[in-house]
Amino acid sequence: MYDVVVIGAGPAGLAAGLYAARAKMNVLILEKDKVGGQIVTTDEVANYPGSVPNATGPSLIGRMVEQCEEFGAEKLKDGVESVDFSDKVKKIKTVSGKLIEAKSVIVATGASPRKIGCPGEAEFTGKGVSYCATCDADFFTDLEVFCIGGGDTAVEEAMFLTKFARKVTIVHRRDELRAAKSIVEKAMANDKIEFMWDTVVDEIKGEGIVESVVFKNKKTGETSEHFAHEDDGTFGIFVFVGYLPQTELFTDILSLENGYIVTDDNMKTNIEGVFAAGDVRKKSLRQVVTATADGAIAAVQAERYIEEAFH
Ligand code: NAP
Repeated sequence: MYDVVVIGAGPAGLAAGLYAARAKMNVLILEKDKVGGQIVTTDEVANYPGSVPNATGPSLIGRMVEQCEEFGAEKLKDGVESVDFSDKVKKIKTVSGKLIEAKSVIVATGASPRKIGCPGEAEFTGKGVSYCATCDADFFTDLEVFCIGGGDTAVEEAMFLTKFARKVTIVHRRDELRAAKSIVEKAMANDKIEFMWDTVVDEIKGEGIVESVVFKNKKTGETSEHFAHEDDGTFGIFVFVGYLPQTELFTDILSLENGYIVTDDNMKTNIEGVFAAGDVRKKSLRQVVTATADGAIAAVQAERYIEEAFH
């Protein structure tokens, strides 16, 4: 039986794993996908205090993984099928069929990109529609791209995309961006960036690859179709319309608000011995720095809980 099982290996989960392992607890970090979470899709981490100049998401995560390993945290690539938190010993069933027992659990499953939800979006994902500029920008070298959304991510990624694309158009459903002023000012000053206001995506079309997109003006109700330039044959649609918490596994088990796990300041959920950390938690600021801080707090609290409950 593990002292702590951490579900999710983004910054929150890795920080929790590091702190728990360093406290000499027996730790397992479970990750269904690639280690690192959303931050590995970022090529510049400028606001994580102390990060070296030109730090990238992958480089920061690489170091976090090394630190976990240095202190002896175990890692397992496996998804979680179901959890049973009804007894003092928590049980986790994995997708590959393992039954894992733990004295405490830290949920750090993060959030995943929200979809536009229009026809064609799913069909053309990976064929012109993307949710990650760092991963896919290169495919759109000298082509045209659209960035959907008006938050920090949409505007920052639009700027990143200008290094590759011929032209980047930010398509926002209102006439004012949500992104921070400092970021907006830089984007406004960028010659390669244009804006389409009060506009949403109605449909994405093509034959095996994105060839056109239907936009709808929210104020006038008018629709217009944009076609790929003849010489290009295609263009990119990058979707950055926020994120959704990954909490399906915990519905009816943990207290949720708008899908996010409710915790106290010590990352405790409504169930003794179960903690939550990072973007999956109801909180006011979702950044790497707050995710790692949550993970550290959760691990320290898990250690205290185990001492009291199991000794
Ligand atoms: P966000 O702040 O939630 O913004 C989502 C954007 O998408 C909003 O502009 C929203 O429009 C739009 N939107 C939502 N649903 C839509 C739909 N169905 N169709 C069209 N547009 C839609 O998400 P985010 O930009 O990913 O940022 C998430 C968090 O990370 C934020 O707290 C952000 O500050 C933070 N972040 C910080 C940095 C940084 O500090 N450098 C960088 C990236 C992200 P409305 O504005 O009309 O709601």
